[in-house]
Amino acid sequence: MTELPTVHSGARAEVPPIVLLVAHAPIERSTRVLEGPASPADDTGRRLCPACGCSLEWVERGTIGGISFDYFRWCLEGCGLYCFDRSRSKWVKLA
Ligand SMILES: [Zn+2]
Repeated sequence: MTELPTVHSGARAEVPPIVLLVAHAPIERSTRVLEGPASPADDTGRRLCPACGCSLEWVERGTIGGISFDYFRWCLEGCGLYCFDRSRSKWVKLA
């Protein structure tokens, strides 16, 4: 006959409400912090095609000559291929 181990800590099993409040706050804060670096497009905001305004799919970030660019896929509307010059905050049409 096996007896399952039981915890006899009746009073301690209950978590005081104040602990829940304190524990909740850091979780909310860390979630916000994670949102930034999680996706490179987050800190630049959502990029819209400069020609038609539809959203462009971000591909990668690269740096050329000290200028960092965000590269995107071809516009689905056929406007062309663009990259965003992050240093000067302007679009560059590649094709
Ligand atoms: Zn477009």
